[in-house]
Amino acid sequence: MTRQEQRSKEGNMKAVTFKHKSLWLTDKSRPVVEQDQVLIKVVMAGICSTDVELFEGYYDFSGVPGHEFVGIVHESPGDPRLEGKRVVSEINCGCGNCRWCKLAKQRHCAARKVIGIKDWDGAFAEYVRVPLENVHLVDESISSAAAVFVEPLAAALQASQQVHLRAADRIAVLGDGKLGLLTAIALRHFNPDLILIGKHQDKLAVAADQGVKTYRRAIFGSPAEQREVLGFFDIVVEATGKAEGISDALELIRPEGTIVAKSTLHKPSPIHMARMVVNEIHLVGSRCGDFNLALAFLRNQLVNVLPLIEKVYDFTDFKAAFEHARLAGSRKILLRY
Ligand SMILES: [Zn+2]
Ligand SMILES: [Zn+2]
Repeated sequence: MTRQEQRSKEGNMKAVTFKHKSLWLTDKSRPVVEQDQVLIKVVMAGICSTDVELFEGYYDFSGVPGHEFVGIVHESPGDPRLEGKRVVSEINCGCGNCRWCKLAKQRHCAARKVIGIKDWDGAFAEYVRVPLENVHLVDESISSAAAVFVEPLAAALQASQQVHLRAADRIAVLGDGKLGLLTAIALRHFNPDLILIGKHQDKLAVAADQGVKTYRRAIFGSPAEQREVLGFFDIVVEATGKAEGISDALELIRPEGTIVAKSTLHKPSPIHMARMVVNEIHLVGSRCGDFNLALAFLRNQLVNVLPLIEKVYDFTDFKAAFEHARLAGSRKILLRY
């Protein structure tokens, strides 16, 4: 091999590409970082329901997906002290100049790019480039497998930063999928009597093991039947990932109550608007959250995310891992690089 070939080989990496409902694992050139960016060598990543949605055509996505990850800083021209450090990265990359970016709310910047989701190559690749300002150091006490959950845990905690969750409120979390479980085990610290409502005994048990009260709804039971057993709630956090989630939440919410909507579906969800209006319900959309808060929850062992992992695959087995993640009801699938 000539030196030229050697150099170009070193500059390559394996990366997954999604396009038109197909995926490939191929060689790509490594991203080149600017002064205010960091190149991270990915150590572990998680496959999220959003990745499945992207594959199905959400955001007309094509490119390298992957937005839940932890890695080692490989290059950091703007702050060389970071090199060799283990980090996670926030996913919204703002323009830096607009009102939202100045408020550090890059997630609302109209010109934003989102790592692995919108116009920015993600972490299903051996290396990922991120803005320097997005990087957070990971404490040694947090394992890499747990650190993969910082992004979804931050999102799960976001309801606590938007709505006053008082200990005395009656709060329900709807949905025992990945997001519902994380939301319940995180938010119970604000409301110890919170109830997680789901359909699967094995998944509800993951939350129950961490002190969450759970209620298993009958597969064909109506939400009205649940209400007869459970009564009304002051706050319902909808994390079902299903189009009918908001309607179910409306069955359980008291007049003047608050529904926090967390499911991001690419198709519209039906809402019985008159019920919202007549009962004067507050509806709060809730998406990305505070990484520092999520890191503090992990550091202080307030949540144990490891039981949420179903299986860890080698990155080179991405296809098998993704097929597994697409199976209905699977828990978190991780990739080891
Ligand atoms: Zn995600
Ligand atoms: Zn901006």
